[in-house]
Amino acid sequence: MATINKNYLKLQGSYLFSTIARKVKEYSEQHPDAEIIRLGIGDVTQPLAPAMTYALHRAVDEMGNEKTFRGYAPDLGYEFLRRAIAEKDFKKRGCNIEPDEIFVSDGAKGDCSNIQEIFGTDNTIAVCDPVYPVYVDSNVMAGRTGEYDSVTQRFAGVIYMPCTEENLFLPELPSKVPDLIYLCFPNNPTGTVMKKDRLQKWVDYANEHGSIILFDAAYESYISEEDVPHSIYECDGARTCAIEMRSFSKTAGFTGLRLGYTVIPRELEAGGEKLWPLWARRHGTKYNGAPYIVQRAGEAVYTDEGRRQVEEQIAYYMGNAKIILNGLNKAGYEVFGGVNAPYIWLKTPDDMTSWEFFDYLLDKANVVGTPGSGFGPSGEHFFRLTAFGNRENTIRAIERISKIH
Ligand code: PLP
Repeated sequence: MATINKNYLKLQGSYLFSTIARKVKEYSEQHPDAEIIRLGIGDVTQPLAPAMTYALHRAVDEMGNEKTFRGYAPDLGYEFLRRAIAEKDFKKRGCNIEPDEIFVSDGAKGDCSNIQEIFGTDNTIAVCDPVYPVYVDSNVMAGRTGEYDSVTQRFAGVIYMPCTEENLFLPELPSKVPDLIYLCFPNNPTGTVMKKDRLQKWVDYANEHGSIILFDAAYESYISEEDVPHSIYECDGARTCAIEMRSFSKTAGFTGLRLGYTVIPRELEAGGEKLWPLWARRHGTKYNGAPYIVQRAGEAVYTDEGRRQVEEQIAYYMGNAKIILNGLNKAGYEVFGGVNAPYIWLKTPDDMTSWEFFDYLLDKANVVGTPGSGFGPSGEHFFRLTAFGNRENTIRAIERISKIH
């Protein structure tokens, strides 16, 4: 008789966004006239920019022609894209990353959740609290559920690093050393960034203790301040302790198109074994590559025209962030983030829980956001709004929220 992976039963509750969707559906059914504005899920609203749609059309035509048709993509991704990434995302910022250290994928969610497969199931992981839920859930599915392993005498669980108002939403170096450390900056959900000197301390700590940092830089393109690193490889010694994951989703509106990549330096090791060949093997065995046409669209993001167009989109979203920050500040809310990230992290008023504020906002302002507690216990009494709406809706939402405060 078939059995199941019982770790799935240890996953907490239903996924945050499905609970939100259910609540909004119920509310809409009871209030059919309510004009609901959604500033909850972190999905973009602006269409693909022309440089990318042009590249897509051209690549589709190539696929329809026998002479230029392409089948399976190379395991690591097309060289044209990996070269553009190495040059523009890394060399330009002084990071020494080679094209063959870049693994192209269909997005960062898959990479963030799959990367743990190349590490021992007895590894302890550390995550920020609040956190993008995928890191924890993927480790729970793999069996890192907090139980003591009597064979290896190790505790394969999750260490939560609280990110609170007191520590300005930046995690402290853990006293019990984790094997894997997930860091996401600019951060989802708090919108915080880590300055270079602070990130350097994490790199030094990881090198000193033999930990591996899994650095999620999905929101890198939203950084506006000078002294904020765009890549962990801007820190000395990161090549021997860090893997970095990036996404085209929020940079260039690829949430529906799907493209991302993971960087694994050649010399990076865990327990005396190189990680690059393991991820190459995993990639080659379980994945057949991002579509050619999407990789061509990704290449277009690195052209001068493409870059200018995506920067315009990012400026548009960050204009929304400014409207949210200023509007909520004026209305007397305590707000964080929103300067180097498309997320605004606000403290709920009158000591409401995150879900109480969710219901209150939905009912009184018909605005949907994301309860902070859904990202972890330290997110309680906080609430996330995103800058990914369109301008008109963002303005209307903030007017409504301001009125009810
Ligand atoms: N990492 C973080 C921190 C995210 O917030 C998201 C998406 O919301 C992702 C990764 C997933 O990105 P992708 O669309 O490339 O799968």
